[in-house]
Amino acid sequence: MTGQHPDRDTAVSFELFPPKTEAGIEALERTVDALATAGPGYFSVTYGAGGTTRDRTGRIVEMVRRRTGLPVAHHLTCVGADRGEVDDQARALLDQGVRHVVALRGDLPEGETLRADGYRDAAELVAGLRRIGDFDLSVAAYPEVHPEAANAQADLDHLKRKIDAGANRAITQYAFDTETILRFIDRARGAGIEAPIVPGIMPVANFAGLKKFSANCGASIPPWMEEMFAGLDDNPSMRDMVATSVASEQCRRLMAEGVTEFHIYTLNKPAVTLAICRALGLPAEARQDRAA
Ligand SMILES: Cc1cc2nc3c(=O)[nH]c(=O)nc-3n(C[C@H](O)[C@H](O)[C@H](O)COP(=O)(O)OP(=O)(O)OC[C@H]3O[C@@H](n4cnc5c(N)ncnc54)[C@H](O)[C@@H]3O)c2cc1C
Repeated sequence: MTGQHPDRDTAVSFELFPPKTEAGIEALERTVDALATAGPGYFSVTYGAGGTTRDRTGRIVEMVRRRTGLPVAHHLTCVGADRGEVDDQARALLDQGVRHVVALRGDLPEGETLRADGYRDAAELVAGLRRIGDFDLSVAAYPEVHPEAANAQADLDHLKRKIDAGANRAITQYAFDTETILRFIDRARGAGIEAPIVPGIMPVANFAGLKKFSANCGASIPPWMEEMFAGLDDNPSMRDMVATSVASEQCRRLMAEGVTEFHIYTLNKPAVTLAICRALGLPAEARQDRAA
């Protein structure tokens, strides 16, 4: 910790996933109330590729909007659906007053192929959503390169296509090596991408689970993290403290390089996310109170 105060313009958004059970939804209501105290700019709710969480995502979006009065972004994937279905859902979102969509291709279930009548990738989805209405569109970006990309340049070219198709910002996959994120932002700027690039911050919850998930999505776990979190899955309170320290150090390093916005993958757990926000001096209103 440097003790340095954050810029007043620092903003955070919080990602949630839709729980499978009624008990999970009740618990999420309490989580959302707690997270709202950190003053996020918006929440976002993930969407199961192929529409598996369609109803649950919609329900959670409504619940968060009702409880917090804050904007909520609806993630939307296009794999497994035809264009007409996706377009209908997009129109329904606008009718409900949901403008912010995180536009994603999603992953095909094992053994399935892309539908000929569907949007082929997130760039096509963005172009389709732009034709439908006045959305605020976020897309995914990959500091460590998406596993399906031919190479880093091809991945960046694809991100540029998504922005050129009308996306307003990119939210990154998490990367624990902060220099990798900074180099990625530099390369994106060099490639003519001017839209905001918002680093996704992953607070470590279950370390063993995180390793498995990271192997699938192309995010690496640096050796220093292996050492730092060794054995801590059996000591959750210490793991949360270490996770808070790692994530807030990362945010501070990024802030020192001019990053002003973060998207936190909350994993529906409020404690560490709230502690990170505290460490960063958020919410801004609390800082203004102190200054007054
Ligand atoms: C912030 C964030 C939120 C996410 N939320 C969800 C969610 O809610 N639900 C969910 O299921 N998944 C989610 N994901 C995961 C995402 O669905 C997967 O990473 C998926 O594999 C790719 O989706 P995409 O939108 O990045 O696809 P795309 O950007 O279309 O493609 C992914 C990669 O494939 C390559 N590629 C694809 N099409 C082309 C092309 N035409 N030409 C050249 N290269 C191409 C590029 O390298 C590209 O980076 C999220 C990821 C992030 C970073």
